[in-house]
Amino acid sequence: MFAGRFSWRRFAAFLLLQFLLVLIVYVARQPLVSVSSGPSWLSLGLVALVVLTTAGLAAWRQEGRPTPVRPETPLNPDETTLGQRQIFEHLKVGLVLVDMDGEVRIANKAVQQLFSLSSQEAQAGSLPHLLRHYRFVDLWRRSRELGLPQTLTAEVPQSRRYLSATVYPLSGDMQGQALMLFEDVSELLRLETIRRDFVSNISHELRTPLTSLKALTESLRAGALEEPEMARRFLGHIETEVDALSELVSELLELARIESKQVPLQLQPTDAAAVVQRSLERLRLQAERAGVQLEADLDTGAAQVMADASRLEQVLVNLIQNAIKFTSKGGRISLALGRGDGVMEFSVTDSGMGISVEDQPRIFERFYKSDPARNKTGTGLGLAIAKHVVEAHGGRIGVQSQEGKGSRFYFTIPLI
Ligand code: ADP
Repeated sequence: MFAGRFSWRRFAAFLLLQFLLVLIVYVARQPLVSVSSGPSWLSLGLVALVVLTTAGLAAWRQEGRPTPVRPETPLNPDETTLGQRQIFEHLKVGLVLVDMDGEVRIANKAVQQLFSLSSQEAQAGSLPHLLRHYRFVDLWRRSRELGLPQTLTAEVPQSRRYLSATVYPLSGDMQGQALMLFEDVSELLRLETIRRDFVSNISHELRTPLTSLKALTESLRAGALEEPEMARRFLGHIETEVDALSELVSELLELARIESKQVPLQLQPTDAAAVVQRSLERLRLQAERAGVQLEADLDTGAAQVMADASRLEQVLVNLIQNAIKFTSKGGRISLALGRGDGVMEFSVTDSGMGISVEDQPRIFERFYKSDPARNKTGTGLGLAIAKHVVEAHGGRIGVQSQEGKGSRFYFTIPLI
């Protein structure tokens, strides 16, 4: 009867009730009205008390009645309207409504996708069974203990996504329940990693030539300037370093322009063999100087590909330059063409140092250089540019390589 919150109004009403009972018992044992003196003070007091008690009881009843509120939005799955359900289902954010005991009351479709759940798994009744991720379940427990919102970003192995989860403890009539929201932040983290790698790589690439330039100028100032022979040699080194810096800057600009699609391809029917021949001629002297044999096998008839000839040549030149750089004196480099299914395959095979299995998937990333290549000249951007150009043509680029034996770089371009 007296369950509920304490309030002074209820307390006063309760006291009055007690008073009334005591008084009734007392008065029942006395004559109510004395014949000689009219209504007694006692009977008047009784009437007053009855009035007060009635008012107190009325106040108590009023207190117990809930204040009228806007009808609450039902969040029980059985009570949700069709419209509400549609809204939940269309949300890209995963939404889970969980009660005090960890029972799932609502889980929208996005949860199923974000956690890669089968339709049956998505029906799981408890939070641990639904999410199958102890860190997110712990997050909910921590939020329940503290009564505060909690946030966590973690990887979901089954979907290989990074999810940022936030738990909001609910209040009022939904006290004890919590709303969990899951957002896919994989792409954001990937971009953040690329940005961080980019800054660290570019700093490294700039530091090396800048350190050399500083050392060379200091040596010149310290006396080398007075010795013409040494001064000339140092100037030669300075020139090499400045060239490396300009190459880095122009390749970076080139990559940025290709990535932002500022250089539209001039696609037109192009003679594949002619492009290979031209690239070979451009690098013949360089190969001779390095003591490697450069040859081509172009017996494919007059195959025409749909390409931007100068971009195609740029890719080939880059692959041949790499082959020369990573092949020792006496080695061989051969260029070939081969028809595939609707495509022409261009390949550059060398008998050079090869690339380790771990490095192979990474060499097309910007700035990536395998360890032995670190000492050689180069920016690590050439293959990233080549990949962009080939893919812009609708082709594919790849490598097969064996350490110590050599590498075969290939790419495809659609035939007309
Ligand atoms: P760069 O040649 O300027 O360093 P690239 O993007 O052209 O940059 O090449 C990236 C890396 O791939 C090189 O540093 C090297 O480690 C490896 N690589 C490329 N071509 C070859 C090759 N023909 N033989 C061995 N390693 C190669």
